[in-house]
Amino acid sequence: MGKSENIPPSLADTNVSACHPSHQILFEPVQIGPVTAPNRFYQVPHASGMTETHPRVRAAFRETKAEGGWGVVSTGAVSIHPSSDDSPLPFARLWNDADIASHALSTEAIHRHGSLAAVELWHGGAVVMNRTSRLPPLSPSGISWAATHVGFMGQQRPKKMTGADIDEVLHWQRLATRRALDAGFDILYVYAGMGYLGYEFLLPEYNHRDDGYGGALENRVRFVREMLEVTRDEAGSRAAVALRISLEELRGKASDHYESEAHGVVSLLSDVPDLWDVKMDSSPTDCGASRFRPEGAHERIIDFVKRVTDRPVVGVGRFTSPDTMVSQIRRGVLDLIGGARASIADPFLPSKIREGNSDGIRECIGCNICIASWHDGVPVRCTQNATAGEEWRRGWHPERFARTTQPDSVLVVGGGPAGLEAALIAAKQGFEVTIAEQTADWGGRVLQESQLPGMSTWRRVRDYRVWALSQLGNVSMYTNSALDAEAALSFGADHIAVATGARWTKRLYSSLEIPAAPLDLPQILTPEDVFAGTVAGDRVLVFDYDNYYLGGVIAEHLAEQGKVVSYATPAGHASAWTFMTNELPFVYQALARRDVAIHTTTNLMNFDGNRAALQNLFNATPLEIEVDAIVIVGHRDPEDALYQSLVGARAPNDSSSIQLLGDALAPGAIVHAVHSGHSFARGLIETDTLYLRDEPLVPAEPARVFPQR
Ligand code: ADP
Ligand code: SF4
Repeated sequence: MGKSENIPPSLADTNVSACHPSHQILFEPVQIGPVTAPNRFYQVPHASGMTETHPRVRAAFRETKAEGGWGVVSTGAVSIHPSSDDSPLPFARLWNDADIASHALSTEAIHRHGSLAAVELWHGGAVVMNRTSRLPPLSPSGISWAATHVGFMGQQRPKKMTGADIDEVLHWQRLATRRALDAGFDILYVYAGMGYLGYEFLLPEYNHRDDGYGGALENRVRFVREMLEVTRDEAGSRAAVALRISLEELRGKASDHYESEAHGVVSLLSDVPDLWDVKMDSSPTDCGASRFRPEGAHERIIDFVKRVTDRPVVGVGRFTSPDTMVSQIRRGVLDLIGGARASIADPFLPSKIREGNSDGIRECIGCNICIASWHDGVPVRCTQNATAGEEWRRGWHPERFARTTQPDSVLVVGGGPAGLEAALIAAKQGFEVTIAEQTADWGGRVLQESQLPGMSTWRRVRDYRVWALSQLGNVSMYTNSALDAEAALSFGADHIAVATGARWTKRLYSSLEIPAAPLDLPQILTPEDVFAGTVAGDRVLVFDYDNYYLGGVIAEHLAEQGKVVSYATPAGHASAWTFMTNELPFVYQALARRDVAIHTTTNLMNFDGNRAALQNLFNATPLEIEVDAIVIVGHRDPEDALYQSLVGARAPNDSSSIQLLGDALAPGAIVHAVHSGHSFARGLIETDTLYLRDEPLVPAEPARVFPQR
């Protein structure tokens, strides 16, 4: 089902004359079985938190990527049957015909821009807990997935599949394929990665079967082969069949006949799928945070695949640099450049490369807030792209902005993430913008934090916005400009945005989570003292109840400076919330490398200037540590004094607006600050600040969700 007849000028236009000559290879079409991808930009399947309950939000989110030039746009995981039920985590489904319409919204939207639509048909095997459907999870041999992992704690163990169960799953794949075709998808997946059912058949540790599906590698690939064959049989020439497979563990396994078991699997199935989508085995390694994984980190595992198959290969690696992408293709690593996070942070990345505007790419920073959204069970949020997930419900487009009819002026005070985003979006809407920052450089907290170990990529939040502001003629930018109320009002701006950030406090909490009096000694410090480089003494305790990245990074940083560092937290893990962003295991590795002693479920009770008195949160067992200083990474208070004095100082008849933004309004993560700045600027034109609530497409009759054979 080639889409050439439908391709609008944006993608059908093969004119890449503005594109840098060395990047033009990225715009070559690629044949994938019976369909043709219009270019090499492939938005691989990724979770969006948008399920059948958010069909319009989902369609607009995916459509924006097609509009931005991604030649293939995929769904996230789409369950083929209620025995693959990941709730309460969000997942989509094609369990019966009633589910077709909501997917058709997405495929129509993707096709409008000439892109191909791919569906990641998925059976979760023993990974899912079937909390809603209450069916036993399926597995080759009844072996639990991640049984030791607290995050998977479900108390539900999988059943061992009989031969009849295998036949049923194959039939469900056939039914889901039929529905996917009816929904208009062009590429249909079989998923054998990340612990899901196909993957469990491949690995001997999970597959102990003594029938034709277990034992020798030829037998272990049989289930995946049959899933591919049944999909092909049903799809005929209407759609391509893709295999998504994790190769990390298999690559480490010796094989009698092949260089590794990964080589064996790809050889045995070499020409069965039309496309190989190759990846790592677990979310922390597959979707690694930039703190611990560079761009292109998958290459060492997947670099052999193209040598073993002549079918096209797509893979990811948080690619944002066109030179890196071209290098992957020229060196024969990949045929198609996979993007998940890169496509969320900038849906228009391909268009920008084609227009020779690579500087304009809003590069992903690898913070994994998008993944945390999925873990939270909500539609995707992105630190770099405030419009992600807001395309339909708020009508926010990442590149198009309404233009003001009033030539109003806007003064933004504070050049951190919130202030920079507010200034940029206000300027793009045609306002006359002035932004003032009291320090010598732009970026606020990002500038400071990005100097800590592993954090340099986060600087892109600042760099992209400072660059983009410098391209506009209606912006005046002043550093070294601390404004008080009088100075701010003297600009006579129609709108004043106060984005002055927040400050860390020395506040503590009791074991009952009640705020306790701050410890007020000169040796009690906050992250600001770390940024200022004024942490004196050789022995430091980092006491962290913020629980996101900063406490752990500061411990690493101080240890790197040669100090003896202890880290204590009331939480159950160091940097506990980084569980949500796939960083947690690597935080522990980094702290271990620096010999940082970790004390979890531990509260800070007192400090006499020499000894920190700690206590186990649950059983009150005391612990004393001799330290010269304590850095408390806990609570932040808004820096809103300027706002308060502005409101007090302005004349009674002054009709200008004054608004607080970002951390100065409510301290949060950088994603919150950017979104706040963006909301402010859109609100200068939008009269209705409420968003549309999406609703499921309700079938006429309640659907039966247990398909009968
Ligand atoms: P956010 O995340 O909300 O953007 P940040 O703390 O990162 O907050 O940034 C706030 C910025 O505001 C900092 O760079 C700070 O130096 C600047 N700032 C604070 N007060 C003033 C002021 N009175 N005049 C100009 N800049 C200010
Ligand atoms: Fe990249 Fe962070 Fe946005 Fe995810 S949330 S796409 S990691 S910038």
